[in-house]
Amino acid sequence: METLTAGKEVISYCTKCKMDLMHVIIAMKGDRVMKVKCKTCKADHAYKAAKGVTDPKKAPKPRAKKAGTAKVAVEEEWARLMRENSGKPIKDYGSDLSFANGDRLKHPVFGEGIVTRQIYPRKMEICFSMDLKVLIHAG
Ligand SMILES: [Zn+2]
Repeated sequence: METLTAGKEVISYCTKCKMDLMHVIIAMKGDRVMKVKCKTCKADHAYKAAKGVTDPKKAPKPRAKKAGTAKVAVEEEWARLMRENSGKPIKDYGSDLSFANGDRLKHPVFGEGIVTRQIYPRKMEICFSMDLKVLIHAG
């Protein structure tokens, strides 16, 4: 590995560009790079070891985990609503029928769900076990 000195280029994580980029070394302390200048955004900042991030869009996102959590939350909410409204009959869904909040219905594709919200005109939000869906009804 070649010796790093001020003026040489090094790959560093840029805190502004949020990815690993070529930087020019500005300051060294012994054999350690202390300060670098980003060749992309021209900003000076402390040297940060490359993080393996070459494209911010491809960086692993905690969002994927959140989506999974949200799905579990929908399923739990659905189970809770089904329990709360267990006394109500389950109606077959039809866009020509009218549904009120708390009504239980059965959809040919999504299965059993609970009406959670009215969206005027003639739409309603339904909590199915796998997701929330907006369907048309008679209002
Ligand atoms: Zn930069």
